Amino acid sequence: MAQQVMHRGKRSWWNGDVTTLCGLLIPDDRAASVWFPSLSGNKRCPTCESVHRSGQRR
Ligand SMILES: [Zn+2]
Repeated sequence: MAQQVMHRGKRSWWNGDVTTLCGLLIPDDRAASVWFPSLSGNKRCPTCESVHRSGQRR
């Protein structure tokens, strides 16, 4: 049911919430579960990946 997807995003300095590159807002208490799941082989969010790549290349 709960499918883990790895998002990329930025953690807010004020409240710890994470805003992902695909526009999701992840509360601080759940951010850890989506923040570094790459080690466990979870799917990556395609939207976050494409935004991340386009952001790296200028
Ligand atoms: Zn995403």
